[in-house]
Amino acid sequence: MSSIFSKIIAGELPCYKIYEDDKVMAFLDINPEVKGHTLVVPKVEVDKIYDLSEVDWVALWAAVKKISAHMEEVTGRRTIYEVIGVDVPHAHVHLLPFDETWEHGKTLSLSEDEFNSIREKLAM
Ligand code: AMP
Repeated sequence: MSSIFSKIIAGELPCYKIYEDDKVMAFLDINPEVKGHTLVVPKVEVDKIYDLSEVDWVALWAAVKKISAHMEEVTGRRTIYEVIGVDVPHAHVHLLPFDETWEHGKTLSLSEDEFNSIREKLAM
């Protein structure tokens, strides 16, 4: 069975997409810890990030670099990286534009309009 992220990548489930190339997709986390909390996901479905092939590993981190540089330009905030992977068994990197209110595990409740406006600002 496909992971929830594979379903998003296949267009079977919706997301607030901010980036896509042939190997990677990035979209907003639906339980954001800060505004702009983004997940960068390899299109190939592997559970643990260190199980990626070299090619997919490089593509993932190249996308992380590109997206976080853009994120910092747009938000003026330093980007925090997290690799957790305890909830969704499909490798991904969390990107969080750091702000002082950030508490790991504490999530914000955002309206659809707020998600859409953040997506518009961060989309590449
Ligand atoms: P973890 O696997 O521990 O890194 O956490 C998985 C992350 O995926 C959590 O922060 C969830 O809020 C997020 N998540 C789960 N389902 C979706 C979804 N459909 N769209 C966006 N983010 C999601």
